[in-house]
Amino acid sequence: MVFKVGAKTDKGLIRENNEDAFYVDAKKGIFIVADGMGGHSAGEVASQMAVEEIKKYLNTEENKFSQILKQAIIEANKAIYEKAEEDPNLEGMGTTIVVAIVNNKNLHIAHVGDSRAYILTKEGLKQITEDHSLINEWVKEGKITLDDARFHPMRNVITRALGVEKEVEVEINTIPYQGEPILLCTDGLTDMLEDKEIEEIIKNNPDPEQACEALIKEANEKGGKDNVTVILIKGE
Ligand code: CA
Repeated sequence: MVFKVGAKTDKGLIRENNEDAFYVDAKKGIFIVADGMGGHSAGEVASQMAVEEIKKYLNTEENKFSQILKQAIIEANKAIYEKAEEDPNLEGMGTTIVVAIVNNKNLHIAHVGDSRAYILTKEGLKQITEDHSLINEWVKEGKITLDDARFHPMRNVITRALGVEKEVEVEINTIPYQGEPILLCTDGLTDMLEDKEIEEIIKNNPDPEQACEALIKEANEKGGKDNVTVILIKGE
């Protein structure tokens, strides 16, 4: 499968640094988005390390990607955790991760934290990752509604991250794939825009590069409170 891909990251309007990171290998069908956290520049180090470690680990035969994806993320967790232990300036750093691998008409999605993957089908835009966040747990337990969740002050508290603990639990899903638009993004997008708005922008911008630009522009017009990163993938 050949891919048309758009990818873009933006600092937003409030933050001083961009702690997001991303990686695209359209030839191999590997796409990664990470959202780092930690004081000073630690968040940037964590997200960049996650991308680099996973990329390095996936540098192997393509038919093996899906089998080693989980291990790649576990190795990245270990590397970030050890680096944070070594260097007092990086103490407590961590990052979310979402990785999409497309091969043999399958889409493999691995994630930790609240960076998301969506797919746009005939039925509309569908989130295919489940946020590892406190708010999502509360929604599932029925403590709050989805509408409350959107603007809840605790909405950015995540329950899993890479690099924070020695062990990490990685969630992996595989679905059949026939070229539908896939969106990977950080919460800087989904905090600012509703799913319906994201869907409209993707539909109105058939070119993935233009769609990414339009998504970031809209997030910034709505306040740009956080770094925003988007990758939009279309198979042909
Ligand atoms: Ca963020």
